[in-house]
Amino acid sequence: MKPEQLIRPEIFALKAYPVPNADGMVKLDAMENPYSLPDDLRGELARVLAGVAVNRYPVPNPQKLHEALARRMNVPQGMELLLGNGSDELIQIVTLALARPGAVMMYPSPSFIMYSMNATFFGMKAVPMPLREDFSFDATTFITRMKAEPPALVFIAYPNNPTGVLYPEEDVSAVIRAAPGLVVLDEAYHAFARKSFMGRLTEFPNLVVLRTVSKLGLAGIRLGYLAGRPEWIEQLNKVRPPYNVGVLTQAAALFLLERLDVLEEQAARIRADRAVLGSALAALPGVKVFPSEANFLLVRVPDADRMDEGLRRQGVLVKNLNGPIMKNCMRITVGTPDENRILLTAMREALQP
Ligand code: PMP
Repeated sequence: MKPEQLIRPEIFALKAYPVPNADGMVKLDAMENPYSLPDDLRGELARVLAGVAVNRYPVPNPQKLHEALARRMNVPQGMELLLGNGSDELIQIVTLALARPGAVMMYPSPSFIMYSMNATFFGMKAVPMPLREDFSFDATTFITRMKAEPPALVFIAYPNNPTGVLYPEEDVSAVIRAAPGLVVLDEAYHAFARKSFMGRLTEFPNLVVLRTVSKLGLAGIRLGYLAGRPEWIEQLNKVRPPYNVGVLTQAAALFLLERLDVLEEQAARIRADRAVLGSALAALPGVKVFPSEANFLLVRVPDADRMDEGLRRQGVLVKNLNGPIMKNCMRITVGTPDENRILLTAMREALQP
C-alpha cells in the first residue's frame, strides 16, 4: 500500500510550505523581528514561565489573555476573540468552518500562499483575483467577480504579503460592503502599517479581523487572534482543537502584552529602517523597489535566480519569488542596520556582471 493510493490526490499534488535551513545565515526571508527581547525582560519572562503548571492542560478560552489582548489591541466593545496556534491555525479554522460543498474562497493574488492551500485542504473552490501589474488592488473588478461567483469567504491581507502593498481603505470597505459572505481581513503586518479595520468591526456584520503577534517579535510563541462578532466566534470556536494554545504561550503572551512598549519601539525602528533600506535598494543598478507598509520590501532585480544564488553564497537568505506572476521578484525582510548593510553589500556584489 502506497501513500498515493490513500492520500487525497489534491493533497498528494501539493508541496509542503517551504522553510529553508537558515543555520548561520543572515535571515531576511520570513518577516521576523530581528531584535531579541532585552535581557531584563528575558529574565522576568523566565521567572514567569517557571511558575506555569505544565502538567495541566491549558484553559481553552483564557479570560485574562482575551482581556489583555482586547485592551492592548483596541478590540471594540462587544467583539470577541478566538485564539490560534499562530494566525495560520485561524486561517485553517475559518476555512474548515465555511467549506460547504462547492463554496468559493476569493482573494487578491498574489497573496499569502496559505489561503489557497487551505482552500485545497478543505475542498473550497479557490478564486484568485489578479492584482494589477504594479500589485495595486482593482476593487471594481474584484466586486464584479464576487457578483458573478459569490464567495462564502474572502481573504484580504492588509497590507499584503508578499508585496507589502496596503490597499486604499475605501477600496477594502467597498469589498467588505459588497461581499456576500465572510471577509477575513488579515492584519498580520498592522504594526508596520498602522492602519487597521479593528476599530471599524462594528460597522460590518460580515467582517472579522485576523492578527498575529509573530511579526511584532513573538513569532516563536505561535499566537494568533481573530476578532469579530460573538455569533461568528461562537461558530468558529467549535472547530478549534480543544487545547490549541499552550500554557507557555499563554503565559508569555500575557506577560509580554504588559510590556508591549518594547515591541512597539522595535517596530518603529523597523519602520524607519525600511525607509533607509528602500532608498539604498532603489539606488542599486536595475533594482526596482515596490512601496511597502510591512516589515519587508518587494524588489524586482534583473535576474532573481542568479541574485538568490549569489546572496546564499554570501550567507544571506531572502525569499526568491521568481515565477510567471512575480517575474524576478524577491521579498526582503527588514533586518537590523548591520544585517541590511550586509545584504546591500552582497547584492552589489551579486549584481556585478
Ligand atoms: N497572514 C499573513 C499575511 C502572513 O504573511 C503570515 C506569515 N507569513 C501569516 C498570516 C501567518 O502568521 P503566523 O502563523 O505566524 O501568525
